[in-house]
Order: sequence, then C-alpha cells, then structure tokens
Amino acid sequence: AKSGGTGRVGFFSLSLSRAAEERLALEIALREALQTGGLELYYQPQIELAVGRLHGLEALARWQHPTLGTIPPDRFIPLAEECGLIGALSRWVLEQACGQLAKWRREGLAVPAVAVNLSASNFHNLELPTLVEQILERHGLQPSDLYVELTESTLLEDHSSTLQTIERLHDLGVRLSLDDFGTGYSSLSYLRRLPITELKLDRSFVADLEHAPMARSLSAAILGIGTSLGLTVVAEGVETVAQKDILQAQGYPVVQGYWFAKPMPPQALPAWMAEQGMN
Ligand code: C2E
Ligand code: CA
Ligand code: CA
Ligand code: CA
Repeated sequence: AKSGGTGRVGFFSLSLSRAAEERLALEIALREALQTGGLELYYQPQIELAVGRLHGLEALARWQHPTLGTIPPDRFIPLAEECGLIGALSRWVLEQACGQLAKWRREGLAVPAVAVNLSASNFHNLELPTLVEQILERHGLQPSDLYVELTESTLLEDHSSTLQTIERLHDLGVRLSLDDFGTGYSSLSYLRRLPITELKLDRSFVADLEHAPMARSLSAAILGIGTSLGLTVVAEGVETVAQKDILQAQGYPVVQGYWFAKPMPPQALPAWMAEQGMN
C-alpha cells in the first residue's frame, strides 16, 4: 500500500513545482509588462442619473500578455501584491490615469475626475501622499480631480500607517471612495471614523435588486445612511434598465455599469461622450 503512496507524493510534488514555475514565469512577465508597456488602463464612466452628466471615470487595469492573452486584474493584482510589485504598479496607474485626465482636458473634453483603485499595502507606504501630490502637480491637476478607491479589507488590516496615509490624502484634498461597500465587516464604524466622501454599493446588491426584496431594502438603507452622513453613494454593476429604474426611484445620485458603458480604452471616450450628448 505504501508504494502507491510514494508514487502519489512524487506526482504531487511534480505538479506543485509546475505551478510554482508558471507563477514565476507570470511574475517575470508582469515585471516586464510594467517596464515595457504591456499594461493599460481602461476607463468606465460613472454617471449622475438625474442630469445625465459625467461624475467621473474609474480606471481599471488590463494586461495583454504576449502569449496568454488578456489576463484579468482579479488575477494579476493579487500576484503583484504577493511579489512586491504593487507599489510600482499603483505608481504606474496613478501616473497613467492623471496623465490621461490632463490629456482629455487639453482636448477639450469635460471630464470631472478619475478614480483609481489602490491596494491595502499601498496605504502602508507613508510616501504615498507625497507621490500623489507630485503626480497631480506634474499634470497640472487639482487634488479634487482624483478619487482613490479603497476597500474595507484595506482597513481591516489595521496597519498603523493606513489611517495616517488616508488622513494625509484627505488633507491634500484627494477624495476617498469606499469600494465594494456592504461586503466587509463593521462597515458602519468605518463610515464614522474615516474622512471619505463617497461610498460604492457593491454590485452583488445591484445584481439582486430585481428579484430579492431584501436587496432593495438594503440598497435603500445604504443610500439613506450614506446620504445622511453627507456622502455620495454610487451604485456599481448596473447591467439592466430594470436595475437602473429601481436605483433611480430610490434616489441614487450616481451609477456605473455595463448598462451605461463597459470599461473602454481612453481613445474611445470622445465618441462615447458625443453619443451621450455630453460635451
Ligand atoms: P472593482 O474595483 O470593484 O471594479 C469593478 C469591476 O466590475 C471591474 O472589473 C469592472 O469591469 C466590472 N464591472 C463594471 N460594470 C459591471 C457590470 O455592469 N457588471 C459586472 N458583472 N461587472 C462590471 P475588472 O476591471 O475586471 O476589475 C476587477 C477588480 O480588479 C476591481 O474590482 C479591482 O478590485 C481590481 N482592479 C482593477 N484595476 C485595478 C488597479 O489598477 N489597481 C488595483 N489595486 N486593483 C485593480
Ligand atoms: Ca473600484
Ligand atoms: Ca467595486
Ligand atoms: Ca473589488
């Protein structure tokens, strides 16, 4: 019986090392992509429902791998976090998004703001606010032109520098947006403690709006709490006109989702805005 066991151990360690090899290859490729321009940002419009105006654009990272094709951020962001590349990646994202906003404005496009996603470990870096300030200045932008999206998991880590970094970004005038709201823990206590200006209702609530009365109650309650605290509440993942209608009836000020626009490359924005009668 034991001889079969060793065979299995041998097989198992072989497949493990192959996985490790693949991971290493991916890590090397990501490092290279960061240097040679294999990454790009797509932008998804956020829309003020009442007036049909643009609220901002969320920057979402894309990786076009030379042989594996498009690798989704849900896969390469965790990899970047694990292999110490997230600092460089986020610096690139900030630089790219701010540069693009400045470029659109030079072209005469009325884009009010860009939003970038940052990871938990970015907030451990006390240099982040200075870096953000320098990037904004270099592109002639105001701090209020930038939203930084963070999730509750960032706050869960309770790293001493996290709160400090958040406070400094706020003092600078950068706006903070709490992403995926409603999926984490002790959400309500964060709302009280943090200098945030915006809440993003997680798309799992939006997905259930049409068929689950509980989801409708929750989205209304979250809008009520956010509004009473003076926050802008954004509903994301809006895919159908029925979802849009429910959110509009509940009074949601800002929405984002495939029903309005999918994330698009920056060069597609002017045509999309013209089509919407914006600008
Ligand atoms: P997220 O920040 O919650 O971003 C929203 C995700 O939902 C995006 O997926 C977006 O493409 C997708 N989405 C937008 N509208 C709809 C819709 O109507 N229906 C559905 N089903 N999905 C919709 P994406 O681009 O694949 O990004 C996934 C996650 O990866 C993001 O979730 C964010 O957590 C992370 N991510 C993306 N770009 C970056 C980045 O530059 N830095 C960091 N740290 N994380 C990033
Ligand atoms: Ca986000
Ligand atoms: Ca989200
Ligand atoms: Ca997310």
